[in-house]
Amino acid sequence: MVTKPVEEQGGLMPDLIEQLFMTNRDLEVREQARTFVDDEITARSSDLEGSTVPELDLARSFGKHGWFGLTIPTRYDGIGAGQVAKTAVLEAISQVSPPMGYLFQAYYLGVAKILHHGTDVQQGRWLPAIARGDCLPTIAVTEPGAGGNIGQTRATAERRGDTYVLNGVGLARKTFVGGSHNGADLHGVIARTPGTSGIAGLTALVVEADRPGVVLGEPRVIDGFSFGDVGFEDCEVPASNLIGAEGEGMYVAQASSTLYGRLNLAAVGLGIMSRVLDGTVRFLKQRPLHPDARSLDQLQVNQQKLGKMQSLYMSTRTDVYAAAAGRDRGWDGVELDAALNNAKLQSYVRGQELVALAKDIHSAYGLVGALPRDAVYLDHLISPAGTPDFQRYRLFQHAMGTERSSWSARFPAQVQESSEL
Ligand SMILES: Cc1cc2nc3c(=O)[nH]c(=O)nc-3n(C[C@H](O)[C@H](O)[C@H](O)COP(=O)(O)OP(=O)(O)OC[C@H]3O[C@@H](n4cnc5c(N)ncnc54)[C@H](O)[C@@H]3O)c2cc1C
Repeated sequence: MVTKPVEEQGGLMPDLIEQLFMTNRDLEVREQARTFVDDEITARSSDLEGSTVPELDLARSFGKHGWFGLTIPTRYDGIGAGQVAKTAVLEAISQVSPPMGYLFQAYYLGVAKILHHGTDVQQGRWLPAIARGDCLPTIAVTEPGAGGNIGQTRATAERRGDTYVLNGVGLARKTFVGGSHNGADLHGVIARTPGTSGIAGLTALVVEADRPGVVLGEPRVIDGFSFGDVGFEDCEVPASNLIGAEGEGMYVAQASSTLYGRLNLAAVGLGIMSRVLDGTVRFLKQRPLHPDARSLDQLQVNQQKLGKMQSLYMSTRTDVYAAAAGRDRGWDGVELDAALNNAKLQSYVRGQELVALAKDIHSAYGLVGALPRDAVYLDHLISPAGTPDFQRYRLFQHAMGTERSSWSARFPAQVQESSEL
């Protein structure tokens, strides 16, 4: 990846977010991401719309260009950047293709698990492969009966000597696995020790996708992004694939989704908000109102709506980048957890409000452009993983001061070390 100093890029006027939260390095990474998006995604994005075929080339292309190594330390061949840079990359991708933004973020959850919970040996084995794009990792937690409540997990991992035998089909299969059919190489699976119940019996393992006993279900695809089923039938996995200690599965899953998942989805939502805002500005400027060519932006009612949309976008952008920068500066604890949860919540809630205003402004033309798809992306890609109800509940706990623990405070120190800014 070629690094060009920001000052040589010409015409780049730093805005408030850039000045407050982004380092020169973050800005450089964002420029490289925009170039990647222009070269690799823009031309493909209209083909992806409506596609029920899992996109394989772009998934690998993210990897081959090093993007899954964004927060991986340079000693493991990564870029060594932090959460702000990742947020900027995700926003840039999602401005052009929200489903590809979603795919990128889904695989990034797989990265987080190994980066922050893997042993030195595991990191040395998988992180360079991920950073080179040779290994696309998923996170496979959800089951038909265990979504928000992973304590109901049915898949089992039984220890037999140096091996775990993994079983999970039917109601114990993993479902809605982001990137399941986009060429995933390694699944991060949460399963329980047989005979246990609740969260204490859960364990995290990584399982190579080509292992005997891994059963890929039918693909479920939105615009090239797959989130299908993965099952396990007497699948033997070496004990060296255990992530964290036995019984720490809940912690591995929850810490990864709080510290990476919340920001990832907030950034995808921000990309959607930004593209809807841009599309609405173009629409207002171009659509003539009368034969005298006055455009719709001269109507006060539309000015008010667009002003509100701009405000929603700016407020959300501040929330998202502040949380990311807090993490990069080494903050942890309940305040940071709350900021991460709030960033995700606002990206969805304000995103919905922004899209509703855009629909009003577009009137009938809201049916024919990109807007209907953007509404679907927001409602069906951003909302479910870490639902608004859960975020509000966490924020209720924060307001009452009743959080039982802080995920960011418990997250292993690797997260700070990985930020080499
Ligand atoms: C596009 C997409 C990609 C996904 N990617 C992945 C992935 O990569 N890996 C993975 O493992 N999973 C993934 N998921 C699954 C996602 O994490 C789950 O959908 C999510 O955990 C919610 O589970 P559920 O859908 O079963 O809803 P449920 O848990 O059944 O919840 C249903 C409703 O009840 C509310 N609710 C339930 N329990 C509570 C509670 N205790 N407090 C407050 N409200 C509650 C919820 O907010 C929700 O509104 C993905 C889902 C989608 C749609």
